[in-house]
Amino acid sequence: MASLTYKCPNCGAPLTYQPGKDKSACDYCNSAFTLEELEAFAANQQTKEEEEHSHDHVDEKEDGSVMGYTCGSCGAEVVTDETTTATFCYYCHNPVILTERLKGDFKPDKIIPFAIDRKKAEAIFLTWAKSKRYVPKSFYSDSQLEKITGMYLPYWMADIKADVDIEGVGQEVNTWTSGDTEYTETKEYRIERKGDIEIDNIGELAFTKIDKPMIDSITPFREENAKAFSMAYLSGFFAEAYDKKRDDVQGEIQRRMERYTKSLIDETTNQYTSVDLNKEDVNYEILGWHYALFPAWVMTYKYLGKIYIYAINGQTGRAYGELPLDKKKLSLTSVVIGLVILVALILGGRFIW
Ligand SMILES: [Zn+2]
Ligand SMILES: [Zn+2]
Repeated sequence: MASLTYKCPNCGAPLTYQPGKDKSACDYCNSAFTLEELEAFAANQQTKEEEEHSHDHVDEKEDGSVMGYTCGSCGAEVVTDETTTATFCYYCHNPVILTERLKGDFKPDKIIPFAIDRKKAEAIFLTWAKSKRYVPKSFYSDSQLEKITGMYLPYWMADIKADVDIEGVGQEVNTWTSGDTEYTETKEYRIERKGDIEIDNIGELAFTKIDKPMIDSITPFREENAKAFSMAYLSGFFAEAYDKKRDDVQGEIQRRMERYTKSLIDETTNQYTSVDLNKEDVNYEILGWHYALFPAWVMTYKYLGKIYIYAINGQTGRAYGELPLDKKKLSLTSVVIGLVILVALILGGRFIW
């Protein structure tokens, strides 16, 4: 399969995208390039490589899907997951982009580039892990920190319009007492709510191989800062393509739109004591879809047979994770408490004697 490594135009070493700087840099000669410069250079380079390696060997499964590629830097055969679009060569660690998996229906429209770099992600994680008690030391060891992975996750984004036509009666009830008499005043209002509500960019994760509740808890992503997709953003990170189609997420997106529309309508009628609707027509229409990649730092940790996940929003830094509890650290504390009590008892005993 065709693969692409963004190489430094000066020295040929691999380039990686630099979060927050909006440039790609070479670790070897310290050059940095804008995405425009790189796109132009990579387009050139790719045509040359395609000519040179027109007989590249590929691994094809029986169903025709391609699982592997040949590393353009060291020549090794690398096998990837079917959905992987950006990764690193297992042997020489060069960043590799699987260009064929980013074409046609799989070409993202938008991307939110990483703003949080690895150093910052590690710092966020360490501050969190060390602030908790009874966390096993191995949870934040250097080898564990290396496992924090920068990943672009696939999302489906929908723009939806709700056509609202609601009629009913709202009642406002006031009660007061004057002397011995209690008065009740009931005012009735006719309610009419007609019009369109349009909401853009309702997003749903389009990937099944990651813990969705975990990733949902590091949202929201700020779509207004999304950029037009360019493969150069992927260099130096992992990226995955969707394995959930639009149809698979449409129901959930619509349910969220319904909840949102309802809360907006409720806000306009909540001054009434009671509301009785006799007409409630709301029709939803999806105006457009786009496919986007969002950044996350993800770490998994296996402790006593259970897998824990920690994730950081690669744009905003919002983090969420579960913590393993070190049973040894816990029981050590209870043993110390036990000893103190025992010592106190013995001392007490001596006094009695
Ligand atoms: Zn260089
Ligand atoms: Zn390689």
